[in-house]
Amino acid sequence: MSSYDYDLFVIGGGSGGVRGARVAASLGKKVAIAEEYRYGGTCVIRGCVPKKLFVYASQFHEHFEDAAGFGWTVGESSFDWKKLVAAKDVEIARLEGLYKKGLAGANAEILETRAELVDAHTVRLLKSGQTVTAKTILIATGGRPNPHAALPGHELCISSNEAFHLEELPKSIVISGGGYIAVEFANIFHGLGVETTLIYRGAEILSRFDEDLRRGLHEAMAAKGIRILCHDTLQKVSKGEDGLILETLNNGTLQADVVMLALGRDPNTEGLGLEAAGVAVDERGAVIVDEYSRTNVENIYALGDVTNRVQLTPVAIHEAMCFIETEYKNNPTRPDYELIPTAVFSQPEIGTVGLSEEEAGKRYSELEVYRAQFRPLKATLSGRAERMIMKLIVDAASRKVVGAHILGHDAGEMAQLLGVTLKAGCTKDDFDRTMALHPTAAEELVTMYAPSYRIRDGKRI
Ligand SMILES: Cc1cc2nc3c(=O)[nH]c(=O)nc-3n(C[C@H](O)[C@H](O)[C@H](O)COP(=O)(O)OP(=O)(O)OC[C@H]3O[C@@H](n4cnc5c(N)ncnc54)[C@H](O)[C@@H]3O)c2cc1C
Repeated sequence: MSSYDYDLFVIGGGSGGVRGARVAASLGKKVAIAEEYRYGGTCVIRGCVPKKLFVYASQFHEHFEDAAGFGWTVGESSFDWKKLVAAKDVEIARLEGLYKKGLAGANAEILETRAELVDAHTVRLLKSGQTVTAKTILIATGGRPNPHAALPGHELCISSNEAFHLEELPKSIVISGGGYIAVEFANIFHGLGVETTLIYRGAEILSRFDEDLRRGLHEAMAAKGIRILCHDTLQKVSKGEDGLILETLNNGTLQADVVMLALGRDPNTEGLGLEAAGVAVDERGAVIVDEYSRTNVENIYALGDVTNRVQLTPVAIHEAMCFIETEYKNNPTRPDYELIPTAVFSQPEIGTVGLSEEEAGKRYSELEVYRAQFRPLKATLSGRAERMIMKLIVDAASRKVVGAHILGHDAGEMAQLLGVTLKAGCTKDDFDRTMALHPTAAEELVTMYAPSYRIRDGKRI
């Protein structure tokens, strides 16, 4: 009989924590999990899921416009922001219920409280003040939006958290940031009819993605009417007579109803008692872990966004499954970060897996780049001036496809499947051998027979 109250105590009921708690409990371990806000965490409550619902909502006006080219006459349409928020909230509550049901079904104890470490085996439950002990502790507290405290007037701005619950849809918004969250929300608000400006200090939005797609998306967003100001930052935000006044470094004064900061996310480690437990953090406050997600304290693990490795839901879940193998199945398992498919749910969408042309150029001495840019079939009748881009980056020596990048409709769906082929180590010859599925956009991926250009020693030839 263990001298601890629990075999496992999980702090944080998000993607990683819930998976770790549920699976450990289903293995017969005595498990408790504490969540200070809502079960489901960032992904379900104020991240991936509500965002994707908003993306769908924001696409309808283009669907209505496109319909005319196919013979439809669409009546007058209008949009009700409050209805969307309410419908989204119903779905989120349903998912939250499913998360709890899964935990309860596995016999994990569900605690609705903030939890903080007292020492390496003891946790304080803030709601009751009670302390409990556990043999193993899993920190899965995620992250929160960086508030950019150095910006005068930052307290007048919102983050993605508040964007999901705005009382009214603003007439205008300025979004500061160039990462996927900033870009996705710029498209969402623009699609819902909000005058949208994106301001980003870098040379081009979406650093780390393939440059071709970054440029292509920038152009497509600008053509739709989203104002994108690169090489610029907000200097000050203040209240004006009619909305907010923004001073920028290079574009003078702007005005907007709402300013949203999307400038990265900080790990949720403040006041968590890590010092008391002896758990080390890095300069950004992220919990330092080894390749098995173990902290410097033998019985304490950490995973997901709080460790600042790859901040994505499937990665947090994968890390949790590796933790289960390592801790409870006597099968030490390292998370695998190779070839993670990702999407940006912009309009048009980006779907990508593997190396960008720029990264691949640094790793391989010779590359073949297969690139197609074309007007999708649907756009012919709709009249929409949109172009899809598809790119395969191939290591000339091994013929392996080391990167696949798509800009256009359903790019995320395609990237998920391309992820399987790249993970399996498929070569360009395997792509060539695959029969095209006609008429689809994806058939381009298996019909690009000749390289568009080559890269040798990082240079295009
Ligand atoms: C706007 C937005 C869009 C996103 N879109 C995508 C996407 O499309 N695809 C994708 O893969 N990822 C997306 N992400 C990222 C994804 O949400 C995270 O990577 C994922 O949720 C991380 O899971 P986690 O378990 O590490 O942490 P979280 O899901 O953040 O869960 C941590 C939980 O811990 C709780 N907590 C914190 N401290 C304590 C404490 N002391 N005691 C008790 N509870 C505590 C928090 O309330 C939270 O519920 C998005 C994120 C945002 C913000």
